[in-house]
Amino acid sequence: MDVAHRLADIRQRIEAAGRRSGRRADPVRLVVVSKFRTVNEIREAAGAGVTDIGENRLQEAESKHRLLAGQDLVWHLVGRLQANKAKRAVGIFDWIHSVTSVELALRLNRLAEEQDKRQRVLVQVELVPEQTKVGFPADELFDGLERMGHLPHLLVQGLMLLPPYLPDPDEARPYFRKLRELLESARSRGVVDEGFTELSMGMSHDFEVAVEEGATMVRIGTAIFGERPASQPSLVEGAK
Ligand SMILES: *Cc1c(COP(=O)(O)O)cnc(C)c1O
Repeated sequence: MDVAHRLADIRQRIEAAGRRSGRRADPVRLVVVSKFRTVNEIREAAGAGVTDIGENRLQEAESKHRLLAGQDLVWHLVGRLQANKAKRAVGIFDWIHSVTSVELALRLNRLAEEQDKRQRVLVQVELVPEQTKVGFPADELFDGLERMGHLPHLLVQGLMLLPPYLPDPDEARPYFRKLRELLESARSRGVVDEGFTELSMGMSHDFEVAVEEGATMVRIGTAIFGERPASQPSLVEGAK
């Protein structure tokens, strides 16, 4: 199958999962994760109707952003953001999915102000602290959201989750559900505003379960482009 056919298949499966959940009226946003993929592969995806591109490394994303300047794409940072690269991230990304502390939010707010922008962000939540320590601890989340909500140059739009890898996607369901419950309680407690609606969760092997549990954005790479190469190919030529 080529990229266009895989995309069509994935869109159908997202829709079917949405129907099963019975919850979703709005379409789920498909963020196509193109890390390690060439600019031509991204063009091919865009030609098949893809609008949202996800990258996890700043330098690679900057090169692609430059090479694809003519394309009307929405850029998402889905990987970890180091404080010293925050300025460049604000420079190219429409969405930053990986805010993991109030300090990082404060910094992004200041940089967005300098760049005369309102930066859309999601807060990445850590539900299994002993495993990875790369997200906002769930027990400090509401307090953190309240503080971030006051930052005038950030649009804090929801939560993001990178669950532990579990071979059976159904085992990830409790994590997805937990993230939705956190979003719902943040809303009902009034620690966030009306615009706080997004749940970025679900990847190639578990996106259907994530959508069933209320994902509004899924981040999918391998299921569209195939297995990633072991190392970064040239962005322009690339081994196909
Ligand atoms: C790579 C990556 C994805 C996509 O993973 P696939 O398994 O290729 O679909 C999604 N989210 C994040 C944060 C990633 O780093």
